[in-house]
Amino acid sequence: MLLSVAFTQILAARRRIGAHVLRTPQRDAVSLSEKLGVPVRLKCEHHQTTGSFKLRGATNAVLSLCEGERAAGVVAASTGNHGRALAHAARIAGCRAVICVSKLVPANKVAAIKALGGEVHIVGTSQDDAQVEVDRLVREEGMSMVPPFDAVNVIAGQGTLGVEMLEDAPDASAVLVPLSGGGLMAGIARAVKTINPATQLVGVTMEKGAAMHQSLAAKVPVSVTELPTLADSLGGGIGLSNQHSFAMVRDLVDQTILVSEAEIANAMRYAYFEEGEVLEGAAAVPLAALISGRFAPKGEVIALLTGKNIDMALHQRIMAGEDPDLEAEAADA
Ligand SMILES: *Cc1c(COP(=O)(O)O)cnc(C)c1O
Repeated sequence: MLLSVAFTQILAARRRIGAHVLRTPQRDAVSLSEKLGVPVRLKCEHHQTTGSFKLRGATNAVLSLCEGERAAGVVAASTGNHGRALAHAARIAGCRAVICVSKLVPANKVAAIKALGGEVHIVGTSQDDAQVEVDRLVREEGMSMVPPFDAVNVIAGQGTLGVEMLEDAPDASAVLVPLSGGGLMAGIARAVKTINPATQLVGVTMEKGAAMHQSLAAKVPVSVTELPTLADSLGGGIGLSNQHSFAMVRDLVDQTILVSEAEIANAMRYAYFEEGEVLEGAAAVPLAALISGRFAPKGEVIALLTGKNIDMALHQRIMAGEDPDLEAEAADA
């Protein structure tokens, strides 16, 4: 089995990024532990600087660049958590970050990236148009592209979470991880299976647009239709010419589980009312798998909470008891 990322690279990432990212707490979920009859731990990575774990991989990637590369700066096409994280990581490293977005991206997202010190290039009307600008900056200005999930340094950075989770719960029977492009899961799986091979790795994704889940079933990366979902940070494909994360997830992960929009909303309400935590939809999918009974843990289990960057008006609607149908709302708009 040939894996792109070695455990030693994850340990190296930990030393490299240690001064720049938080070691987030892992708390007991008291009421859920009682309900399920096993200890449930919450790895509270949504408390990470910039509001998501993406800071780990982005920081490792930026700090791994040589001096000349750093001087030319970094570039990416993400409007979400990766874009934020990369802007912040670049500022820490004292280098330029350009985030390329399409005209359709809401103004508040552009403002958030600028507030973190990132430059925003607005081009075209699609993610593909934004990527054309990324490619131009790489070609013409020698900037380094930092991809959101399919890169060795990014995967190694996310893998530091696996080390921390097992340091705090060495005998965990299972770890539940939100799964999209799989950079997060690939890194964590590499760390966890090295430290304790008996720990089960469970990837959780929303039913609407589960690209990795379907690619695993097809045994090759496939594209899926992107649909509006509460778990917007899990949207998008895994890349038809995926180099690293697909193979690592295929070879290391024990199981993948899908959850519905209503289950995600319910898990967000549980996190808020029982645990006092604000989660974005993507971060709530491990809790959704546990609360819905789609995953029945046989022993101590860790749920990784990955981010908290959600439109607060949407969060309030869900807390008021609504189960929003974002697909229907998008069709009406
Ligand atoms: C990016 C992201 C994920 C998924 O990470 P992948 O490496 O793409 O699988 C999960 N949760 C949040 C909040 C994210 O931003």
